Amino acid sequence: MSDSKYLNTEELDDYIQSRKFEDYVYIIMSEAYSGIKDRNVRIEWGRAGANAAIIWSQNKIDIIRCNRGVRNWPEPVLYGLLSHELSHIALGANLHLEVQADRDVIDRGLGPYLAIERLFTQKHFDHILLEGEDRYLGFMSIRKLLSSDDVHQLETLMSDLGMKPPIREE
Ligand SMILES: [Zn+2]
Repeated sequence: MSDSKYLNTEELDDYIQSRKFEDYVYIIMSEAYSGIKDRNVRIEWGRAGANAAIIWSQNKIDIIRCNRGVRNWPEPVLYGLLSHELSHIALGANLHLEVQADRDVIDRGLGPYLAIERLFTQKHFDHILLEGEDRYLGFMSIRKLLSSDDVHQLETLMSDLGMKPPIREE
């Protein structure tokens, strides 16, 4: 930390990247989360499980902490990452399972972004939590839950990003 009253380079970068991510959040919320559009969702940086996590949610303010490593991810992949967190907020943060957040994203029509995020992070198959009581959906499971329009959108995103489906299919 610098004792200057001005932001140092790292702080300035954090600030600029937070505004960019908050713009993405705003776009996604306008598109698919009308029920929570009055909430003020802020981004901060630091260690977060699963690359992003809700760390505070109260009084219409929600804070999503993201790992700095996600900053250079492609925009559609970030939409998937942030949608999952917005579904936590929409469902009432922390009172539900990861699989419910994933399914909520799909129900809102953002499944193609969630799928592309799981493909990008090489989560091809479900990741079991709580001895089977909960799970993160992998790319293959999400793809099976998509409508044909959503599958088409996913294929377009994959083609735009030069991404291929997993070799081993179930
Ligand atoms: Zn989650």
